[in-house]
Amino acid sequence: MRIALPGRTLSWFCAAAVLGACSHERISESAIPRPEPPPADRIATDEIATSMDTYYLSACAQCGGLLGTRGDAPEVVHNVRRYRVCSSACAAAFNLAPEACVERVNAIMIADQRPYYPLAVSLVSGRPLGPHPVEFVWGNRLFRASDPAERDLILSDPVRYVRQLNRAVLAAQSSSYGMPDKCPVQGDILPSDVPIDIVVANRMVRVCCGRCARVVRARPYQYLGMVEYANKHRSDAQPP
Ligand SMILES: [Zn+2]
Ligand SMILES: [Zn+2]
Repeated sequence: MRIALPGRTLSWFCAAAVLGACSHERISESAIPRPEPPPADRIATDEIATSMDTYYLSACAQCGGLLGTRGDAPEVVHNVRRYRVCSSACAAAFNLAPEACVERVNAIMIADQRPYYPLAVSLVSGRPLGPHPVEFVWGNRLFRASDPAERDLILSDPVRYVRQLNRAVLAAQSSSYGMPDKCPVQGDILPSDVPIDIVVANRMVRVCCGRCARVVRARPYQYLGMVEYANKHRSDAQPP
């Protein structure tokens, strides 16, 4: 019988064999191969990447054309943040001058998410945001701050503040959510399901399970329209 051992298991096995063979010789701790822990900066980058929303607009980040009309929409990554473009030509153009694309996409996302922003006060200080807050996008998500110093504070620990923002979105939107009994991926939410409320682009989305949460996070542009339609339908049906 052949047993396939993964490389790491094998090297541990060899280390144990070496130890056994030389039981009366001291083997320094450092001679035993240990699995390398991932470096701290990579853990931080992973946490940042998973806290960010994926690109959710239906327009190419480079040319503004509708995604999907020229085949599969490739993803481009700039400073950990993910974008989608309509073609490999647009991907090349994006990578050549990302800042201009980022600025354009930010302006679109700020205008798009403003009506959904759940708070009239600052996430940092609780101060009223006033009529002209500082608006900025981190990880495809709109944030609003009272002043540039608060913006810098949020950007210094965005993972913490995006969690806080998610809680505020769910608190503000769950009572008026348009499809409380339906998952946009699977359909009916069954009594045996444990639904999960997630936030994408400052909008609440209820899904029936963790798998559907991953599906919506990966391709939010396929599901946000459905949720929006249901929200609008529900608010139209509600008496004033
Ligand atoms: Zn394009
Ligand atoms: Zn599900």
